[in-house]
Amino acid sequence: MGRLPYGADILNELSNICMREGVKLGWIQSIGAVKKARLAFYNQHTFEYQLLEIDKPLEIAGLTGNVSIRDNQPFIHAHITLTDERGHGYGGHLATGTIVFACEFVLQVVDGLIIERSYDAQTGLQLWKEE
Ligand code: ZN
Repeated sequence: MGRLPYGADILNELSNICMREGVKLGWIQSIGAVKKARLAFYNQHTFEYQLLEIDKPLEIAGLTGNVSIRDNQPFIHAHITLTDERGHGYGGHLATGTIVFACEFVLQVVDGLIIERSYDAQTGLQLWKEE
């Protein structure tokens, strides 16, 4: 558990922690606030992410994600729910460019198991292997 530094890019900072600590598989949760956000929505027809930038302070009502291996490196896939001063929400796939105002996180590490991402032609995404 820990706190991300003010002004850090959430996704990059969490990735750096996973690299530094050698986390190969895990689960991330976080609450806090951001100075601004950058979210992505995956277009299921074009197989491309559409980016949404929200340039204002928001609460992190919830961030949940996982860590697995992609291209032999720890890779974080996270989604975030953000709320404004009226309690209205934004949400989506967490992209780089979401900047910490204050952020407390929990990273639960799973040892002894590796899950790798690989290209899935049906979705165009880098997915886990089906069980
Ligand atoms: Zn996603």
